[in-house]
Amino acid sequence: MHYHRLGKTNLYLSVFSLGTMRYLASPENAVATVRQAVALGINHLETARGYGKSEEYLGAALREMPARREHLYITTKIPPTQDAGEMSRCIDESLDRLGVEWVDCLAIHGINTPQHLEWVLAADGCMQAVQQAVADGKVRHVGFSTHGPLEVILAAINSDLFEFVNLHYYYFFQRNAPAVELAHQKDMGVLIISPADKGGQLYTPPATLEQLCHPFSPLALNYRFLLSDPRVTTLSLGAANPEELEWPLSVADQDEPLMPAEIEVFKRLETHALTALGTDKCSQCYACLPCPENINIPEVLRLRNLAVAYEMSEYGKYRYAMFENAGHWFPGMKGSRCTECGDCLPRCPEQLNIPALLQDAHQRLKGPEGRRLWG
Ligand code: SF4
Ligand code: SF4
Repeated sequence: MHYHRLGKTNLYLSVFSLGTMRYLASPENAVATVRQAVALGINHLETARGYGKSEEYLGAALREMPARREHLYITTKIPPTQDAGEMSRCIDESLDRLGVEWVDCLAIHGINTPQHLEWVLAADGCMQAVQQAVADGKVRHVGFSTHGPLEVILAAINSDLFEFVNLHYYYFFQRNAPAVELAHQKDMGVLIISPADKGGQLYTPPATLEQLCHPFSPLALNYRFLLSDPRVTTLSLGAANPEELEWPLSVADQDEPLMPAEIEVFKRLETHALTALGTDKCSQCYACLPCPENINIPEVLRLRNLAVAYEMSEYGKYRYAMFENAGHWFPGMKGSRCTECGDCLPRCPEQLNIPALLQDAHQRLKGPEGRRLWG
């Protein structure tokens, strides 16, 4: 296992972190998963107030290995609150559930909207309680996680209130690249949310994608894309049981620069997408927004890009089902809501027929409604 510096916190975290949102089958399973993660070299355990019994189970696991605590780093996450008192109560409840006096890192869980950021920045908002918790020794380092738009992420980073950020960034989703760079410039740690699942459900890749990535696996390539980036500190691994840790951690030491053979495969993927999508390829410039119907045009068309180019339709359906069902965690309406008003058309540098492509995306990706694992 390799360890990377979490920016200005000066903590050295394992390049994979255990995300504890899926180990909840039983307390025994949670403890066994934590034990195995630690045995394999993971020193960063990440939980959240919103993950059901996750904090409680993690507390039980920590009590089973008390001598290890000084070598382990614990992060919990609490949603932003408008009121400092509420945040203060939430921090104390998390510490109680974990059974600890302090945590290494506290992240504001989901600065997803401008309003969340306002709550953070307000003089009597939740950061007042967080900073008091730091002064009281209950929290050592403060960061935030986000599923929000790039503009909100950049503004949160520029607030200079945070030492690390936990965000979405993958080979198949590079919209947040400027946030990764800005965080790096500010010496903040960068944690990547769930590269295997949110990064493309790459543990069950379609045949076309597998063939294009040969001799590598799509998941290994995505891990290498991230591990080879010196700005990235650690990747979250949401293992449901000890067995799910084994394969990912077999690549945990591979953080050297990309090899020519890997760069070649990334070029092949790009060339194939250009050929398959032709003049319908959405370049992900985001110039088309805003849409009066609140359709997240670039994200709908990103999912279409992936479905058409790489047969990633199952991943596309999984994510598309979240529109209209996951609030600020996955905002925007489905493509079928397009009224063909035409507002977006002059803004698209690719001159795409956006209404037609949205309808096509809807036909390809519609299915049962989805929801987040944890709200
Ligand atoms: S044409 Fe459709 S996608 Fe474009 S702005 Fe109008 S409603 Fe939104
Ligand atoms: S403006 Fe066109 S190319 Fe850019 S994100 Fe929107 S649809 Fe895609």
